[in-house]
Amino acid sequence: MKKNKKNDIRVRFAPSPTGYFHIGSARVALFNFLFAKKNKGTFVLRIEDTDKERSKKEYEKDIMRSLEWLGISWDEGATPKGERGEFGPYRQSERGEIYKKYLRKLLEERKAYYCFCSKEELDKMREKQKKKKEPPRYEGNCFLLSESEKEKMKKERKDFTIRLHIPDNKKIEFNDRIRGKVEFNTKDIGGDFVIAKKDLSPLYNFACVVDDHEMNATHVIRGEDHVSNTPKQILIQEALGFSIPEFAHLPLILGTDKSKLSKRHGTVSLYGYKEKGYLPEALVNFIALLGWNPGNDEELFVMEEIINKFSLEDCQKSGAIFDMGKLNYINGYYIRKRDVSDITKMCIPHLVEADLIRVEFTEEQYPPAYGGKEPKESYYAHHREKKMSFNEVKDIVSLYQERMRTLAEIGELANYFFVKEPVYEKELLIWKNTPAEDITTYLDKSIKTLSDIKEWSREEIEKRMVETANKAQNRGVVLWPMRVALSGKKASAGPFDIAYVLGKEETLRRLKNAKIKLQQ
Ligand code: GLU
Repeated sequence: MKKNKKNDIRVRFAPSPTGYFHIGSARVALFNFLFAKKNKGTFVLRIEDTDKERSKKEYEKDIMRSLEWLGISWDEGATPKGERGEFGPYRQSERGEIYKKYLRKLLEERKAYYCFCSKEELDKMREKQKKKKEPPRYEGNCFLLSESEKEKMKKERKDFTIRLHIPDNKKIEFNDRIRGKVEFNTKDIGGDFVIAKKDLSPLYNFACVVDDHEMNATHVIRGEDHVSNTPKQILIQEALGFSIPEFAHLPLILGTDKSKLSKRHGTVSLYGYKEKGYLPEALVNFIALLGWNPGNDEELFVMEEIINKFSLEDCQKSGAIFDMGKLNYINGYYIRKRDVSDITKMCIPHLVEADLIRVEFTEEQYPPAYGGKEPKESYYAHHREKKMSFNEVKDIVSLYQERMRTLAEIGELANYFFVKEPVYEKELLIWKNTPAEDITTYLDKSIKTLSDIKEWSREEIEKRMVETANKAQNRGVVLWPMRVALSGKKASAGPFDIAYVLGKEETLRRLKNAKIKLQQ
């Protein structure tokens, strides 16, 4: 084993690539990362892919791209192209020989032994215990076999396992950095337990312990669902003479109805959140709050701030509530904080997804006033047969930056800019109980006012339209139909903003169409 030279704090995130990376795993990864960064330690990514049938490369890739997207970088471990670090291999599937070495040692020392009991025999044992109202446990029959009996069984039986021999009625205690003192008794563990299959391929607890030792993990931070594995791992560590790392078990994640988080609560793959228009800094902030708080009611922080404030002692024992409303609120906050150009770039795929624009690649450069270096892409609002520059799309997005909770909402919110005609019922043009003829008159007045504008600027539009509206019996009769005519919506960006972004010609065309619609 290589030495932990600097006596560093070393933590590991050890996912099994058997499904898409989700919020729960992201939380474990994040808390390990925060703890490592806070303590200037090392964060290791180990891939626990011993289950050959269920482990898939695709899931491993998903873990890595999600961590990268969240900004959870790892110092050592498996990487998309191989691995980095001196404690490898970092994929359990490549560590077979290492496990065998330790298994043989335990077998030689008689701390572990072959168990030949068949499934039927084990079932019978359980039945008997059940009748006697005893907790289920392996009674250690095969531990007592003589050498010759063992050899005979090895030949006769097709399948067998390796069990760790554990002391009877021994207290196992550890100090969990989050939960405090945790106690178990070996009599509640179910007797000698299986650590490997007959071909010396290890089960989770054994592989995990060997790797934590070989990789010099000083702290094991993982979900509460692993608390019951910890006494078993400590027993393996003791049998092998390893030092015992510190443990911290993070609370379960619950839905707002306090039940365990499931698909029902929107547990999609973590990367799915990117696709739905969440920002990585929002997810990091939100996930950090799943079990941790800084000791006051502050809620909004970016990674750097969380690292500074983080401590395991500030993590809670009780379940952490996953509240989608809170995630949306946090996401909205970070959307507002970002530069509008960034947000526009991120909205473009959502506009494409909503079938509102197509991206076309051109060599065309944007005018210097716009930085001259915008992407070599232009956009085509195909329903309007209109080419759009990045800045035109940006003007549209900027109207909704304050309002969006996810970037995917842009399609629904701003669709009317990209379609030929906004879709609405003509009744929507009517402000309160104003007669339709009056609305037509006011639409005419708006058309006149706007036609007279020479310099199409946001200020000019507002100034002229406010004058017109102030002359009417109330502003609503002028501004409401204008908004509906331009957007087809009850709630939209402000009518002056929309008019400005649509441009004079399109604004006048939509107002005229509204008039025609009203007269039909
Ligand atoms: N492979 C285990 C899991 O994904 C790791 C548990 C641990 O951190 O020890 O749950």
